[in-house]
Amino acid sequence: MKGDGTVAFSRGRKEPLPEVETNVWACTSDDCQGWMRESFSFDKEPACPLCEASMELEVRMLPGLE
Ligand SMILES: [Zn+2]
Repeated sequence: MKGDGTVAFSRGRKEPLPEVETNVWACTSDDCQGWMRESFSFDKEPACPLCEASMELEVRMLPGLE
């Protein structure tokens, strides 16, 4: 069966991802918004990708990665 439109109906609906507590590295510079997910960083103590200042771990609510 084709052409009744039910397929198109279910497409394009975006469920927002639930936010979960996520460890992130945050830039220690007050002027800088740089941060990255801890799981995306391979360094033990990464430098900020924007300003190269040191970073510290914090927990933020971010959309979960599935
Ligand atoms: Zn920075």
